[in-house]
Amino acid sequence: MTEQRTVIVTGASRGIGAACAEAFVLQGDRVFGLSRTPGDAASGVEHRSVDLSSPEDLLAAMDAIEQETGSIDVVVANAGITRDQLSVRMSDEDFAEVIDVNLTSTFRVVRRSLKRMIRQRSGRIVVVSSIGALMGLPGQANYAASKAGVIGMARAVAREVASRGITVNVVAPGLIETDMTTALGEDRLALLADQVPAGRLGTPEEVAAAVVFLASPTASYITGAILAIDGGLGMGL
Ligand code: NAP
Repeated sequence: MTEQRTVIVTGASRGIGAACAEAFVLQGDRVFGLSRTPGDAASGVEHRSVDLSSPEDLLAAMDAIEQETGSIDVVVANAGITRDQLSVRMSDEDFAEVIDVNLTSTFRVVRRSLKRMIRQRSGRIVVVSSIGALMGLPGQANYAASKAGVIGMARAVAREVASRGITVNVVAPGLIETDMTTALGEDRLALLADQVPAGRLGTPEEVAAAVVFLASPTASYITGAILAIDGGLGMGL
């Protein structure tokens, strides 16, 4: 029997994060989901109520998880938000909030995890970016900046810790069936969906399968990679 790992998934209350958390539970890991609400998290996921825009709450939750389990083995920095608006009309607040939740809090999650993983000399970090970081969809200057930001951050960190048995990788989902895509509105979604070579939206479970692989012991020689799960939408970028 393989050892039970401590897995932390941010934004596990629905969508992609919920699917990731469930996939880790199914393979026997101990899984903690960090989000503001428990939402639809699968049974077996241990919810910790955290608003990622509060650095204190985040640190307290991660400290408590480390104390309780004695390890932090896998971290999936998945939580994210959108505040879409054409750039000329985008407020400073909407720009800053998206950067804060998607980029700054992701860095805080990664930094806190590393403290434990460096001592363990092992760890798997998977950061959820977006194909939008590379494509730059209209109305998403804030979101694209945050998602491009996590790619640069992940790669810098990957280089810092590669010799310690820690890998840091990025997944870049395309159009996935979640509340976030529903919020795009039918017309915009149909226009985007038309451009997907696979001819359909992806499922949260299809993203989770890639995340579970990158977090597995078998992915030990993959670090600093960006894995697109997008039905070919961003091919060539
Ligand atoms: P979603 O269904 O809207 O879920 C977002 C998750 O983030 C929820 O669990 C939410 O939990 C959590 N969250 C948001 N703000 C938070 C905060 N301040 N503190 C704590 N948790 C917070 O989104 P999704 O589609 O699953 O997206 C998950 C990730 O994939 C995001 O980073 C997104 O940018 C990325 N992505 C999605 C797509 C797509 O097509 N869906 C494509 C590319 C990338 P609470 O509301 O309970 O706090």
